[in-house]
Amino acid sequence: IFDEYYVKSLIRSVPDWPSPGVMFRDITPLYKSPKAQRMVVDSFIQRYVDADFTHIGAMEARGFLLGSVISYELNKPLVLFRKQGKLPTQTIAEEYDIEYGKAVLEVQHDAFESGASILLVDDLIATGGTLLAAATLTRQLGGSIYETAAIIDLPDLGGSQKLQDSDIPVYTLCAFA
Ligand code: 5GP
Repeated sequence: IFDEYYVKSLIRSVPDWPSPGVMFRDITPLYKSPKAQRMVVDSFIQRYVDADFTHIGAMEARGFLLGSVISYELNKPLVLFRKQGKLPTQTIAEEYDIEYGKAVLEVQHDAFESGASILLVDDLIATGGTLLAAATLTRQLGGSIYETAAIIDLPDLGGSQKLQDSDIPVYTLCAFA
């Protein structure tokens, strides 16, 4: 059973990191607790065990932690969305804004076949820039978005709303206001 209070108690709030004015939500205490990690992973597995998407797309880097284990449990292929310059062979790229700067997200051109349905996962949704960029890349390759999923939503930053306004479904386990 998902205990939101327990999971949230293991997310550490770090003021002014990585830059002044940012309240960083640090998930390392959560991952130090096997019980909490299991609670988080089991919640996603329960939600998606009978879902008919074809691939899991994971955002570098903390999204990899979650995407990999969901892929393993559901026996579905994992696609890596990475920061610029990390993926070999031909890639497509999309620039996006993050909470503290600009970045470029890439995926390999042959990551999946056209017609694939992708669950996009990350640890946290802030401005939504990362998942929106991943959604754009997914569509460029002829895929569709099944849903976007994250452990944490920061609703005050508007990202989850922006995704939903773009007709991209969003599922998160907890929120920090
Ligand atoms: P967005 O693109 O939605 O603005 O920001 C989300 C992305 O930045 C995610 O990949 C996430 O890992 C990272 N991120 C931004 N702010 C935070 C934060 O406060 N805590 C954590 N754990 N990740 C963050």
